[in-house]
Amino acid sequence: MKLINIKGNTYYIPNNTNIGVYKINENEVYLIDTGNDTDCGKKILKLLDSLNLKVVGIINTHSHADHIGGNKVIQDRTSATILAHDIERLIIEFPILEPTILYGSKPLKELTNKFLCAKASNVIEIQNNLKNELEYFSLPGHSFTQIGIKTKDNVYFLGDALASYDAITKYQIFFLQDVSKYLDTLEYLKTLKGVFVISHSPLTSNLNDLIEINKNKILEIASNILKICETPKTLETILQEIFTLYNLNMNINQYVLIGSTIKAYLTYLYENEKITYYFKDNKMFFAKNI
Ligand SMILES: [Zn+2]
Ligand SMILES: [Zn+2]
Repeated sequence: MKLINIKGNTYYIPNNTNIGVYKINENEVYLIDTGNDTDCGKKILKLLDSLNLKVVGIINTHSHADHIGGNKVIQDRTSATILAHDIERLIIEFPILEPTILYGSKPLKELTNKFLCAKASNVIEIQNNLKNELEYFSLPGHSFTQIGIKTKDNVYFLGDALASYDAITKYQIFFLQDVSKYLDTLEYLKTLKGVFVISHSPLTSNLNDLIEINKNKILEIASNILKICETPKTLETILQEIFTLYNLNMNINQYVLIGSTIKAYLTYLYENEKITYYFKDNKMFFAKNI
């Protein structure tokens, strides 16, 4: 792990999930997200320790386990205050909510793994509790109430507001919770100017290409689901056809992650009056509106 200066007091640690670091004075820092797991949290602490830096605060962009995995060990060892927003805050405090929301009820035990269920940490609401040099703003769509952080050096930490080029080319379907909000967030991102740290992408000062790639892929997936529904289908069949179409391999994590993403697309198509649903033989069918 390496601490890299972006500008002024703003740094980051390149990682599977990039970690933001903001120096509030010579020896104290705020972190933006804490990586995948306890091990990652320990590595962050070791690196900062070697540089004589102490973590006094952590901001989580959202509640996904790959962004909050180091929270607990860092909070236990430094007593850092953790800040997050609204629904995300609740999920970080009660991480069992994450697999519960994805599965829809008490999750199968295989879903309480570290990818879907991080360790709990104590969190306070970010609204009214953030230092002046840092600002937060809403980036909903990927998850309920995701936020981004702007530092006074004009560096923006955008969490998972944009899926990475690699994720889109390799897996094509990326997780999201609300399609219309995701698309609105893409439009909002076009208005920002500065340096951008996206959690799973290289540092950049130009978001335009990635915004277009995200948008086009979403519209393509929505149109493919609509095509599948030209003949009425159950959710299970839609899911199966999407996995076949995009050459994806089904497993328990993918079943709930992509499954819940496809449900978000169905809601989006329903809101836009492109599809409807009905029940036949006690099964739910989705069908394209004619
Ligand atoms: Zn995420
Ligand atoms: Zn992520």
